[in-house]
Amino acid sequence: MKRMPSAPQAITVHIPIGLLNSESAAGRQLPALNPAKRSLWLGFGLLVAQLFCLVDAATAEKLRLQLRWLHQFQFAGYYMALEKGFYRQAGLDVQILQGGPGAPKPLEAMLAGEVDFAIANSGLVIARMAGKPVVALAAILQSSPSVWIVRADSDIYTPHDLAGKRVMLMPAPESAELRITLAREGLDLQRLQVLQTSFNPQDLIDGNTDAYDGYISNEPFWLQQQKVAYRLINPREYGVNFYNDVLTTREALVQQRPEQVEAFVQASLRGWQYALDNLEESVQLIHRRYAPDKSLEHLRFEAEALKKLIMPELVQLGHMNPGRWQTIAQNYVELGMADGPADLQGFIYSGPPVTDHSLLYRVLTGTLLALLLVGSVALRFAHLTRRLRREIERRRQAEQELLSSNLQLERLANTDRLTGQWSRLKLEEAAHQEIKRAERYGFPLTLAFLDIDRFKSINDQYGHDVGDCVLSGLAQKVKAHLRESDSLCRWGGEEFIILMPHTDLAQGCVMAEKFRALLAAEPLVEQISVTASFGVAQWQPGQGLGEWLHCADLMLYRAKKLGRNRVEQFTPCHIQPLV
Ligand code: GH3
Ligand code: MG
Ligand code: MG
Repeated sequence: MKRMPSAPQAITVHIPIGLLNSESAAGRQLPALNPAKRSLWLGFGLLVAQLFCLVDAATAEKLRLQLRWLHQFQFAGYYMALEKGFYRQAGLDVQILQGGPGAPKPLEAMLAGEVDFAIANSGLVIARMAGKPVVALAAILQSSPSVWIVRADSDIYTPHDLAGKRVMLMPAPESAELRITLAREGLDLQRLQVLQTSFNPQDLIDGNTDAYDGYISNEPFWLQQQKVAYRLINPREYGVNFYNDVLTTREALVQQRPEQVEAFVQASLRGWQYALDNLEESVQLIHRRYAPDKSLEHLRFEAEALKKLIMPELVQLGHMNPGRWQTIAQNYVELGMADGPADLQGFIYSGPPVTDHSLLYRVLTGTLLALLLVGSVALRFAHLTRRLRREIERRRQAEQELLSSNLQLERLANTDRLTGQWSRLKLEEAAHQEIKRAERYGFPLTLAFLDIDRFKSINDQYGHDVGDCVLSGLAQKVKAHLRESDSLCRWGGEEFIILMPHTDLAQGCVMAEKFRALLAAEPLVEQISVTASFGVAQWQPGQGLGEWLHCADLMLYRAKKLGRNRVEQFTPCHIQPLV
């Protein structure tokens, strides 16, 4: 605060982390040691503790806070944050620099980068409107302590009564609240005899001024001590309510070192909370370490007065209302101290920048969904592929089975079951092919019709099964002596056909004769001898299979007629059937 004489000093207050009670603590833990050993241990303990202190101090961030007046309870929160280790716990190494006459102006020092933080009054917003990069971090006093103090025996009761009186007034903006009060009350400054502030309340007692501008937390105590009755003209009672003792910093610091700024603000507010909760302890400490020239009573008076302006029961410590700052700024504009309109964007500190993870969450969610989609599609695809493979395999097997059953069917259709030789179906198919070849290339083509002679009597004599054996045996015997290019077919019953490509009629007759002789030469099975008759016919160009067979059949009939066991060949003269 600005008043009360005190030797101006720019004390650097940095209390190293001391383990002041280490000795007694260590002593309690080592009761059994003899004094020599104990002091050795204590020395060692202190050395280690000091080393820790040095390391801690070396790693902590160094920050400087410029106060706006001499040491007093007005800055209690910062002292307590330092003394109670709140700054150190936040990783900060804080120096508190006293203000007052001769000390740097807090805002100027802060903007010049000489200090990191400063305490300012609400005129801070003027600097902001003038384009200075200042940021209001926390308003400690929710209401300004600036008042006029007048003697109780004066006739001054309201601002109007100041007209024509000698009134002390600080230059703006220090006296902004008082000036606004006058303006609100419609009292032109010209109507006052404005005196420069003397910083000495004795002037009020001595009658050198009619109204003394001071702080509600300070000079009234002094007047009480002097037993001088006084009255206050408080701007608050006229609707003027400015913040004061605002903790401030540079905008660049907020942007570049947001964590430290936040840590400093929080540790400072913690210090303030402690000071308000422990007024007497704080008063004692401030008196002992910072303001020995101020009496304990004076500090207690200040503490009580300021607590009413901090309003900890009503308002969160350091609270700032943007609307109220806007009103304060507007008041300064009205006073002509600033140019409006006020743009307070970025002026009021709102905590460290919150990293916006929503985009990241959206991207992650989208990626997850896409992965799920791709995964489910892949799964579906894999499932379908498996099903498709199974289906292909099933069809391949079915096709294989169909193929093999077709082959089997074909084999069955083409093979005579009893003899294992070509069936009639196969003979017809093969004969058609051979006829085509013979037609195209002019090869000779001959077949022989074979019929067992009097086979019925074999059946009758030996039974049907033996008859079957005879049929089978004949087929094997003929097959065994066939040329490779010839084929044997069981045409039906006991009739066979031998198909002989590249064979003319004469050669065909030779072959037929060979088989006739072979059969007749020895018994086929179980001493049963059979003979057979043959009708041979060469295919004639333009002839169909039916006609060709008919020719051979005619010759077979002829052989039967002519006594059996013989070969007859077809020649054109045989067109007329044998009677
Ligand atoms: P031919 O000399 O005039 O040919 O007298 P054949 O007895 O052989 O002629 P026929 O046509 O009168 O008789 C044929 C007999 O062949 C009648 C039938 O019982 C017998 N036969 C037909 N197919 C089979 C068969 O698959 N197995 C047996 N064991 N006999 C059959
Ligand atoms: Mg027959
Ligand atoms: Mg027969």
